[in-house]
Amino acid sequence: MQMPYSEIADAYEKIEATTKRLEMTDLLVDLVKKTPKGIIDKVVYLTQGKLYPDFVKLEIGVAERLAIKALAKASGRKESEIEEDLKKSGDIGETAQKFIANKRQVTFFRQPLTVQRVYETFDKMARASGSGAVDAKISLLAGLLADATPKEAKYIMRTVTGNLRLGIADMTVLDALAIAYGGGKEARELIERAYNISSDLGRVARVVAEKGLDGVKKFQVVVGEPIRPMLAERLSSPEEILEKLGGKCIAEYKYDGERMQAHKKGDEITLFSRRLENISDQYPDAVELLRNHVLAEDAILEAECVAIDPETGEMRPFQELMHRRRKYGIEKAMEEYPVSLFMFDALYVDGKDLTLKPYPVRRKALEETIKESERVKIAKHIITGDVKELENFFLEAIEDGCEGLVCKSIAEDSVYQAGARGWLWIKYKRDYKSEMTDTVDLVVVGAFHGRGKRAGTFGALLLAAYNPDNDTFETITKCGTGFTDEDLAKLPEMMKKHVISHKHPRVNSIIEADVWFEPAVVIEVLGAEITLSPIHTCAMDTIRKGSGLAIRFPRFTGNYRLDKAAEDATSTAEIVEMYRGQLKKIAES
Ligand code: ATP
Repeated sequence: MQMPYSEIADAYEKIEATTKRLEMTDLLVDLVKKTPKGIIDKVVYLTQGKLYPDFVKLEIGVAERLAIKALAKASGRKESEIEEDLKKSGDIGETAQKFIANKRQVTFFRQPLTVQRVYETFDKMARASGSGAVDAKISLLAGLLADATPKEAKYIMRTVTGNLRLGIADMTVLDALAIAYGGGKEARELIERAYNISSDLGRVARVVAEKGLDGVKKFQVVVGEPIRPMLAERLSSPEEILEKLGGKCIAEYKYDGERMQAHKKGDEITLFSRRLENISDQYPDAVELLRNHVLAEDAILEAECVAIDPETGEMRPFQELMHRRRKYGIEKAMEEYPVSLFMFDALYVDGKDLTLKPYPVRRKALEETIKESERVKIAKHIITGDVKELENFFLEAIEDGCEGLVCKSIAEDSVYQAGARGWLWIKYKRDYKSEMTDTVDLVVVGAFHGRGKRAGTFGALLLAAYNPDNDTFETITKCGTGFTDEDLAKLPEMMKKHVISHKHPRVNSIIEADVWFEPAVVIEVLGAEITLSPIHTCAMDTIRKGSGLAIRFPRFTGNYRLDKAAEDATSTAEIVEMYRGQLKKIAES
């Protein structure tokens, strides 16, 4: 059944005029009721100025210059006249309305526009590519304008240039669908769930219209259609978190990267961002990693993608990932800013929709389908009901370069709440962040073997501050960044004469190094900040019982302090002062 495009244009005009949300909903209800069921999806997309759901990368995308050319052609007027008018109106829609109303060429036979024709023409415009694309778009658009009424021309022009601006939110459309086809609150919830697991408002509308609520109830997760992400609430103490989660939870590292929802269908992998855009092209390396490490044939999995140091494999701050947000030069960026994936949920595996299963079941499915490696890991976790243990795990996460923890419910009802920010996930982040401005001089007390490009030399050094009170060296950080190739080549040679077979008696360390040294060599290091840490012994118990202090994101400045003896290194008391200074700085800011 054909629907005149004028019906849509009329509805747009009324929606544009209203200032009340309820009225807007009513107008939408009228529109969807009037729409033949078979094209309701298209009408829904059109009301939002789109042709497809956001995850489909196909936009009409007509530049203003091109729209002007099409209008000139359809109205028989000069481009310069149109440009002049556009300068005054500031709205290509209004200008089009005016010029179509005062056409030079009078058309004797006007074929009234149908929604189907408008949609199909837009679709052809969106797909036009290659050398003739611009001309093709102009003539397709001019063809529509030639048959359009002035009012229709206004909305056509606004749509193709991305200026429809009716501001119809997804939630408003869901309300309208529930009223038009569901009748009541129950319908609203069911329809919303269907939307949350498909992110496709058009498909939801079509199923509601054609099959009613029964159809909606049967709505399934589909590989290729992104599921709207579950989000976390936030609390700032481990006591409150445990209480809220019923005394026990799975606490996972909160990795500081970009969220990805990976859809695997055989060999084909699609990655969606937190906003559900298709970002597969930006991350060919992540695609490849998933292809090789997901055992299931079909799956929908969630991961945090984190920038890592290519030399040491350590996590880098989130900002470094921003270098991967680009259209060109992807290969080079991939080499300079490699990534690791930390998997944290499984929503669908080989025919099974897991979204309504409790988290422990989903996590088990995740563990079974991921073949872990250096670059693909399952989010580090503990299951705990102990405040102290949770607190220590939090500090460990911070020190390892994470933002904190995400604590997850393990109760029976711990389903995947698609599209909702709820209390089944609670994030635990620090309230402050500060910068270390001064360098410190630290003693090399141990080292870890390098891998990959660093095989044969050190991957990272274990560094310590000096505590004159008991004449010991207390570890404060593991540093693998800032070393040039030359440094790396000469380090093993330089340290050779200090190697000992076990931890030096004056070194106080919880961490087990691969190689131990006599405390002798001092290097200069700059870090991002000093944090509490349960695994480093520097100033243990001074600020907090059970915690030492650590330097986060340390970097060798290039200075070997050969002028300093180990005992001249920065003292633990100085580190405590620096830590307190940081806190003061935060309090003042
Ligand atoms: P934020 O800016 O704090 O990341 P957000 O609004 O993007 O907030 P939230 O739901 O509040 O998202 O916090 C959870 C976010 O943390 C997820 O979106 C995800 O990107 C990230 N994340 C990192 N590690 C995990 C994990 N183990 N489990 C769940 N989410 C994780």
